[in-house]
Amino acid sequence: MLIAMNAQHQLVNAATADRQIEYYCPGCVQPVRLKRGAVIVPHFAHVHATDCDAFSEGETTDHLRGKQQLATWFAASGYTVRLEAGLPEIHQRPDILVRRGTAQPLALEFQCSPLSVE
Ligand SMILES: [Zn+2]
Repeated sequence: MLIAMNAQHQLVNAATADRQIEYYCPGCVQPVRLKRGAVIVPHFAHVHATDCDAFSEGETTDHLRGKQQLATWFAASGYTVRLEAGLPEIHQRPDILVRRGTAQPLALEFQCSPLSVE
């Protein structure tokens, strides 16, 4: 996951997160660890194995990088962007939620693994 929650329930991007602060999963509120280095895409991972419904730990580097790149592109194109925004009224957490002006928000899912035609 690219976004985690601090103790004040503010959402923080892994790219700008402070290493000295504790973070929590916005979905299950369990502790997460900041993973950021020279090679890996900055992200958070649950400290302990969990059956979190909101975030699986199976996100690949390509998936994390793709979500971040799409968010950056939409933001630079004038959209308001929310990464991994929870939508409790429909129990969904799209990769990216974009909105331009007063238009309806658009939920985007970044798919970077093969899908069959079916
Ligand atoms: Zn979780």
